[in-house]
This record gives sequence, C-alpha cells and structure tokens, in this order.
Amino acid sequence: MIDGAEELLNHLGDLLDSSDLDEFSSQLATMVAAGRSADGDRTALADAETAIVQLVSTHESTRQWLQNYIDMHFPAALRIYSPPPPGEGEPAIIPSFRCPIPKCAFTWHRDQLGVSVPKCPIHHIDLQQL
Ligand SMILES: [Zn+2]
Repeated sequence: MIDGAEELLNHLGDLLDSSDLDEFSSQLATMVAAGRSADGDRTALADAETAIVQLVSTHESTRQWLQNYIDMHFPAALRIYSPPPPGEGEPAIIPSFRCPIPKCAFTWHRDQLGVSVPKCPIHHIDLQQL
C-alpha cells in the first residue's frame, strides 16, 4: 500500500493536471514518509494509509491507478485470508463484514475502494463490520 503510493508518485505527472500536481505530489510524499517511518506501528501505518486513500480518492485518475496497483500486487485471496491480528485495528481499506445472525455464515470483504456494503442475501439485513 505504501509501496503503491510511493510508486504512484512517479506517475503523477501523467495522471494530474499541472495545476494540481505540485500540491498533490508534496502531500502524497509527506504521507508516504509518515507510512515509512511508522516502522511496525500499525496505528501510525493505518493513519498514513487512510490519509493516502483519502488524498488519492480526490482524483479519479489517481484513485484508479492505486486500485489497479492493489489489484495487481494484492490478489483478493491473499487479503481475505490475512486478517490483522485481533485488537490491532481495522485494515485501512479492506474491512470484512458479516451477517449479525449468529448461525448465518455470510461474510463479505471490501476489495475495492468506495464500494458500498451489501445486505445479507439470505436475511436482507445490514452486515456488521468485523
Ligand atoms: Zn444472514
């Protein structure tokens, strides 16, 4: 994720108007540096990733670029089977959801930025974030 944002820095010139480029580039570079210096601090890393996603989502071109990067480097299966350890907070972009009915096994994983959470297809109620 931080790697993707760092790589994105090299492509901003192709993706953004020159009027947006300087400010966007310096903000993203600051966030990448924050993510790098987090160094194992998951909360600081998640904060940096959240800031990056928010910034990148302000432009469709950069949002698409990062989405493609994530799709290429983090296949869905890998993300689904690698949840964060309990008590270490939610992943920044890919939360998991499940049906609140105890016997219902329906779970759903957000694998794209900005996709809204569906209802349980069996019970037609809102899913709860895990
Ligand atoms: Zn259900």
